[in-house]
Amino acid sequence: MSKHDELRELERKATPAPWEEDGAVYRAGDFSDDDAACWVCESGTIADAAFIAAMRNATPGLLTELDVANRRADQAEALLEPLRREVEDLKSQLALARRRAELTEPAPQCTREGGPCALWGAKGSCPHSVVILG
Ligand SMILES: [Zn+2]
Repeated sequence: MSKHDELRELERKATPAPWEEDGAVYRAGDFSDDDAACWVCESGTIADAAFIAAMRNATPGLLTELDVANRRADQAEALLEPLRREVEDLKSQLALARRRAELTEPAPQCTREGGPCALWGAKGSCPHSVVILG
């Protein structure tokens, strides 16, 4: 069970919202009627009680927002996949076009003292002036 499903299950089993901080204790129910109000549990501090009550009340909405966000992420991923394939296809076409261009373009040459230097002969490049021979 995912953490999300686990939270959804815990939320479903818990005392229904709304909960409210009341001193160090939070409760659920009809606050206009003390008999209908339900004391859920005690808390160490008012801040803890306020946080627990706020999180209890926000949890269903947060889980729904998470569901929506996950669905949107899945939809975006589905839209992205064909674009990724297209980019890969274009990269392949570009690589092929570059290889063809390398085969058909005249090779550059070192022009030092009227011909290729030893560096050029060994590495195909050198720090001297270079010209494209057609
Ligand atoms: Zn050279």
